[in-house]
Amino acid sequence: MTSRTVTMRPLDEAPAPVGRADTLPVAETFVSVQGEGGLAGVPSWFVRLSGCNLRCAWCDTPYASWAPEGTWRTVEELIAEARAAAPVRHAVVTGGEPFIFPRLSDLVGGLRAAGVHVTIETAGTADRDVRADLISVSPKLANSTPPASAGPWRDRHEARRSNPEALRAVLGRGAARQLKFVVTGPDDLPEIDRVLSHLEAVRPDEIFLMPEGVTAPPPPLRQWCLETCLARGWRYGHRLHIELFGNRRGT
Ligand code: SF4
Repeated sequence: MTSRTVTMRPLDEAPAPVGRADTLPVAETFVSVQGEGGLAGVPSWFVRLSGCNLRCAWCDTPYASWAPEGTWRTVEELIAEARAAAPVRHAVVTGGEPFIFPRLSDLVGGLRAAGVHVTIETAGTADRDVRADLISVSPKLANSTPPASAGPWRDRHEARRSNPEALRAVLGRGAARQLKFVVTGPDDLPEIDRVLSHLEAVRPDEIFLMPEGVTAPPPPLRQWCLETCLARGWRYGHRLHIELFGNRRGT
C-alpha cells in the first residue's frame, strides 16, 4: 500500500495533499456483511471516507466526522483492494460524507467498471456527478443537532442538515434508492413528512425507520417504529451489524 498518514485538520472539506490529487481520505476499509437497509446481510467490501460537512450529536463514526482520522489512498489502490475481496462483489462507499469528495466519481465509476455493485451511503446534503447501483440516503432530522457545547458546529450543522435541492438530486444518483430515517420517537414524524413532501414519488418500501442508538432499542421506541411502519407501509430498519458484532470499528 502506498498511502500515507496525515492529520486531517480541514474538517469540512479534505483537499488532497499537494501532488496527490488522485487520493481520497480513508478512515478504514474492511469486509463484513451490510448491516442496514435493503441489502442487510449481503457480504460487502466497505470503504469509509473520512470527513463530513455535518456533526450529528449521536454520530457512531466520530473518527470520520468530529475527529477525522485515516490515510490518503489512491483511487487505483482502493479499486484493487475491492477486486481482491472476491468473491465479495458488493462495495459500500460510506463516511463521513462521501459526496464532499471530488474523487468520489472516479472511485465509484472504477468499482462499477470492475463489475462491483456499489452502494453510496450519504446524508443527502451535497451533490456530485456520480452513478451508483444503490443510493442510500439518511436525511438528518432535528434529533441529530449537537448541543451548544459543540460551539460553531451546532449552527453549521443546523444550516446544512436540510437541503431539499441536494436531496432530490442525490436520490437520482442511483439505479435504486432508499431513505433511512434515524428516529428517537413520535416527535420525529412531522419532520419526516416535511422531508418527504419535498420529494416526488417515493415508494413506501423505499423508506426505513431506524431507532437511534448503538445498542438494542428500548422496547417503547421499537414498538412505535414497528407500528408506524405497519401503518404506513415503511420498512423497519434493523441494524444487523450491531446485533452480530456490537458497536465496533471494522464491522
Ligand atoms: S452525517 Fe453521518 S458521518 Fe456525518 S456526523 Fe452525521 S452520522 Fe456522522
